[in-house]
Amino acid sequence: MIDPSLTAVSNTSVVSDSIQSGKKVMRFADSMKMSTYLVAFIVGQLEATKPVFVGKTPLRLWTVPGKQPLTPFGIEIAAASLKFFEEYYGISYPGDKLDLLAIPDFASGAMENLGAITFRETALLVDERTGTHAERERVADVVAHENAHMWFGDLVTMSWWNGLWLNEAFATFMEMLAVDAWKPEWKRWDAFGVSRAAAFSVDGLLSTRSIEYPVRAPKDADAMFDVLTYEKGASVLRMLEQHIGPTVFREGVRNYLRTHAYGNADTKDLWVSLGLAAKQAVPELMDGWIFQPGYPLVTVRQDKETELVLSQQRFTYLSSPESTEQRWQIPVPLRITAAGTTEHRRLLMTDREVRVSLPKGVQHLFVNEAGHGFYRVRYESSLLQRILDAGVDHLAPSERFNLVSDVWATTVSGLTSLSDYLRLTSHFTGERDKNVWAVLLDSFSFMNRIIATADRPVLEAFVRARLTPAVTDLGWRPKAGEDELIRQLRGELIGALGKLGNDPAIQAQAAEQYRQYSTDHACVDPNVVPALVSILAHTGDEARYNEFSDHSRTATTPQDERRYLFALAAFQSPALLTRTLVRTINGEIRTQDAPFVVSAVLGNVDGRELAWGFVKTNWDQMDRLFPKQGLRRMCGGIVGLATPELEQDVREFFHSRKIDLGGKTLEQYLEQLRIAVTFREREQQSLSGLLKL
Ligand SMILES: [Zn+2]
Repeated sequence: MIDPSLTAVSNTSVVSDSIQSGKKVMRFADSMKMSTYLVAFIVGQLEATKPVFVGKTPLRLWTVPGKQPLTPFGIEIAAASLKFFEEYYGISYPGDKLDLLAIPDFASGAMENLGAITFRETALLVDERTGTHAERERVADVVAHENAHMWFGDLVTMSWWNGLWLNEAFATFMEMLAVDAWKPEWKRWDAFGVSRAAAFSVDGLLSTRSIEYPVRAPKDADAMFDVLTYEKGASVLRMLEQHIGPTVFREGVRNYLRTHAYGNADTKDLWVSLGLAAKQAVPELMDGWIFQPGYPLVTVRQDKETELVLSQQRFTYLSSPESTEQRWQIPVPLRITAAGTTEHRRLLMTDREVRVSLPKGVQHLFVNEAGHGFYRVRYESSLLQRILDAGVDHLAPSERFNLVSDVWATTVSGLTSLSDYLRLTSHFTGERDKNVWAVLLDSFSFMNRIIATADRPVLEAFVRARLTPAVTDLGWRPKAGEDELIRQLRGELIGALGKLGNDPAIQAQAAEQYRQYSTDHACVDPNVVPALVSILAHTGDEARYNEFSDHSRTATTPQDERRYLFALAAFQSPALLTRTLVRTINGEIRTQDAPFVVSAVLGNVDGRELAWGFVKTNWDQMDRLFPKQGLRRMCGGIVGLATPELEQDVREFFHSRKIDLGGKTLEQYLEQLRIAVTFREREQQSLSGLLKL
């Protein structure tokens, strides 16, 4: 029974809708047998699109009034992924209709209520003409992810929260498959490397956890919604899928869903189904990845001319005596080029060390071919040199990504010298893959956080030397027939050159481009707009601040709103950043965004101390105001406070206030901060000298 001016949506179709004594009475059909956490009643001023039919299922998108023009892209991926999953799973969609609803203030990304999926607006609505590639990819990902849950999660539910990864890792894995099938030109699995790397960085901590662990209290379950459940989980599933083959893997998934439909299941049930399909023992292979924390580093060296020696040990950024005994079963695809011919081998490494015989005249070789394995590789220097001598172009983009990511990680951990890493980056000035650039830029940002202020100009010059050739080559405007990944790359490189590289010429051009864009949006490629906004914020004064602040309030798309809102965290002036911080707790910035804005100021080297002081002063209010997961994410910003003094202060604050963020979250943030400060202490003396090379 609701107010007649409103409407209501639930898991199933409306069976009757009438007015009784001034109230609207709506009745819904019985739902299928399902878990209570999936029940939804949504009431509000909402408008729906006309239904699109996927088989027998009517599909609609709901928005608050006025936002219907932003729905076509979401409808397209919703319909495509629904159809994809019906075919992949071999089971019809289990509900009687499917509604996707964009909610203006929503703490999570989305929630997979059967038949009535709720989203924050940036995850469902986008203007196809002005959205960037990354923004459209985000919508496609989240919509496909939630649709995948209609089977994985809703039709078959985990028995208890310890099995959350079954829902979330699978939905993340399936989201990749569906988006990749829908837009192969997006090369979605290459971009997944960035997600895998995010999981690597948390799982390389001593304070990581296994994917699955016992859950007793609600906060144990809350702390499970992290990169280890989603991204590590999806990564190890991808590794298994590639190891046993995609068709066999799909057979196993179908068997699992059919066997447990309308019921609950456990990790071992999945292994049984996959094992039946693969005709091999899956638990032996997979248990090490699911029930052990961390992941291996595979060290590769050549012994004499004819033998390759691979050995495994757990990878951690900080050293620990206890981590040496762990073992994993590691699928290792290996590519060897010798005497002009290339051969491909597949090993399953089960012991600490394995020896592989090599043909005569090896020119170069590559371990973890195609890059699906959830482990890092470290080559002895002569083997690495041969890979580089052969030219990095002979590697697939995912392999180049892993090469940079692995060498950088071993540099941070102290196994590789910083000068070797910096030299490696010089091989990538011709790189045109946005993901490889993402890992390079990430390492430059890390250095930016730890470098002494006086040395920063040297880092800026280094960044300019690495980026300028690519930016000059790409120019400011897309060339005819250029694909959208290159367009996205152009935006990202321009943004980095203007901010990290502090390049005055780029900053001047950005101002000019933005001036033109303000009068005619069509004259700048949408993928470049985020770079313009972030550069102008970085160099901006109060007038610019007021302009962007107005734009964030009057924006007509959720993406523009977000863009201008987060730009307010990127200025340099303490007075302007203080205005931003104040607005996160005075009700001006919605609580779905506020903790992320605070985190962004913590990540801004010009604002981090200011933001940290603000967090300390206003902690109680933030704790009351912000959604729990938002507060937890906000605290992730402390990893940017990478000076010994700030680290000390951070530790004292969290300790004295007895703050618990659930699970091992706080411990992990503090360890990441420790890693950054350790790196700073080790490298700071030599860093500016090395960057001048
Ligand atoms: Zn999910």
